[in-house]
Amino acid sequence: MMSEIKYSKASACARDVLEDNGFDNLLDFSLELFASGLGATVIYKPLINSDGRIIFGKKNTIIEVNSDIEFEQKKRQTLAHELGHFVMHKNIDVHNDNDATMSWFNNKEKQAKHGKIECEANQFASELLMPSKLFIEKQKDRTFSPDLLRELADYFKTSLTSIAFKYLELGNHPICLFHSFNGKVSYWKRHVDFPYFIVDRTKLPVPEDSVAMEFYKKNKIYSKEQSKQSIWKSTWFELKDWEDDNDFNIYEYAIVTSSYNTVLSVVWEE
Ligand SMILES: [Zn+2]
Repeated sequence: MMSEIKYSKASACARDVLEDNGFDNLLDFSLELFASGLGATVIYKPLINSDGRIIFGKKNTIIEVNSDIEFEQKKRQTLAHELGHFVMHKNIDVHNDNDATMSWFNNKEKQAKHGKIECEANQFASELLMPSKLFIEKQKDRTFSPDLLRELADYFKTSLTSIAFKYLELGNHPICLFHSFNGKVSYWKRHVDFPYFIVDRTKLPVPEDSVAMEFYKKNKIYSKEQSKQSIWKSTWFELKDWEDDNDFNIYEYAIVTSSYNTVLSVVWEE
């Protein structure tokens, strides 16, 4: 029997928008056409300090996406986020988005500042681009690995970051995510079934012996083949007095974004 998926209000909304328009997913359908079918015109143009914006008019709504965004998946993500505002937040008139508003890894202060609507737009975008049912289906017989995350990112045409976040929620294997910026932990999240106690390093440096630190200190970025790196349990987790660090098989996969100086560390046990 398949376990029931828990949809948030926003992800249920995206699921319904797909269903109401006769789609299981948008993997083979243009997102721009889908937007236009819903009543929003999509324009790509250079934007300053903004990835995307939405302008609600009396009759028509325009969604602008920054044409200078380097990665296709990020353009998709931005458009899907704006569609979330379009469908769910009709009472705002103009709205601008950038990395701060679209990040999955906002700390509590930022979340309070940008409010509930950003969280909703992100959840909407996640479900629109990666429908939960399909996501569960795609990973269910697979062993967790960095390769699996990369494969899923290719398949769903989204960023590794959003795939990792989705996997944490719906994947078979319990994982933890630690997001860091400029060498300091900005946010972490763990799967509900992850068994170990995490040492809270929010706003503190990443552990000395973490793969993330290798990037910050030595600019080390591992190749695809080497992206699964063995670490100690004590690197990110509390090691009890009676435990031996050698008894655990813990790994870290550091997803590095050099241009922002951020690392998303995916940590799991085998
Ligand atoms: Zn937004």
